[in-house]
Amino acid sequence: MVTPNGPFPPETAEENYEAFTSNETLYDRLHQLENRTNVEYEELGETWQGRPIPYAKVGSGDFHIFHTNQQHGDEQPATEAALRVLRDLGNGQGRSDILDELTIHFLVRHNPDGWAPADDNETPTRSNGRPDDICHDGPYFGRNQCGPSDPNRQHYFQFNEETLAEVDGDAFDEEIGIPDENPSPETQAMIDKVEEVDADLIVDWHTQFTYHDQNCDMVNVSLAWPFNPHAPDDAVNLSKQVAGAFWDGVQGRANGNASIFPGGTTANICRNAYGVAGRGSVLVEQRGQAPELNNASNGRIIRHSLNMYERLHEEAASGDLTERDPDYADGLWDVGRDWFWRDLPSADLDEEVEEYWEEHLNSH
Ligand SMILES: [Zn+2]
Repeated sequence: MVTPNGPFPPETAEENYEAFTSNETLYDRLHQLENRTNVEYEELGETWQGRPIPYAKVGSGDFHIFHTNQQHGDEQPATEAALRVLRDLGNGQGRSDILDELTIHFLVRHNPDGWAPADDNETPTRSNGRPDDICHDGPYFGRNQCGPSDPNRQHYFQFNEETLAEVDGDAFDEEIGIPDENPSPETQAMIDKVEEVDADLIVDWHTQFTYHDQNCDMVNVSLAWPFNPHAPDDAVNLSKQVAGAFWDGVQGRANGNASIFPGGTTANICRNAYGVAGRGSVLVEQRGQAPELNNASNGRIIRHSLNMYERLHEEAASGDLTERDPDYADGLWDVGRDWFWRDLPSADLDEEVEEYWEEHLNSH
């Protein structure tokens, strides 16, 4: 259902990604920020297609926040916001309140190979650039997986097999075990950097297709924290405090409307992996999936990203974040969430997620 001037671009609209930062421009900007501001830039090795994996940091505080943007190449809006946050904080602009308290790390564009087609106005890809003839056995998806792989399914490389068998049960195939090489060099670079800086909090920025809530209002941000039952309470509580801050940062501002993302529990994905590792870990899913919207609504979507970045950094620096009631975020379960064009409840949720969803919806 596409209405003129409605929320979706008309079918006749040409696919266009020109409002977003190309890979080439992104590397140029990061070099400029390094030369002219307090931003420190580093390339964490290379992607399968030989692009640098771009990492930057700003600030010198003891609380370490690690943002990763665009693990999925076709989920680009928060990358634009990250570049603005780096520019503004790198220039100082009177923000010593934040820069003295926090060290803010960015994997600025986690998956530049996935984004690359958009630089030619073609649809970017979710997966990375692993060549078709390179294969790995995968304990979550079976033997002999070849070609482009999903960077957000490879965060389990930070654990040993014993731990994964314990936290993921049958979802982790012990017979296959952990392969010798990570199918995502991008994700391995993140794992190594997060461990090096011993990050307190991970924020994983994605986009999703368009959803609505119980009131049929459009949902433009969905949030989640570690749902794996082995994530320690303090990590989960910090994550829920952050989700609460994001909710307040987005709700009712620039037509923002938030909900929970009813995701799964396994520790191969970012949100659960770093939670199981004892770090705060939050997933942000914004409206703005490239194949659905390409350039459309990007100004508002990036505004929502900026509102969330600002809210988190201000609350984390002032200490307000850790004063929050973690259970506040549970209220988001009541909002509901489903595809924009379908009735609640979702028919395609898997059973485990459906049960979790039911339990939480019914507990309020
Ligand atoms: Zn994603």
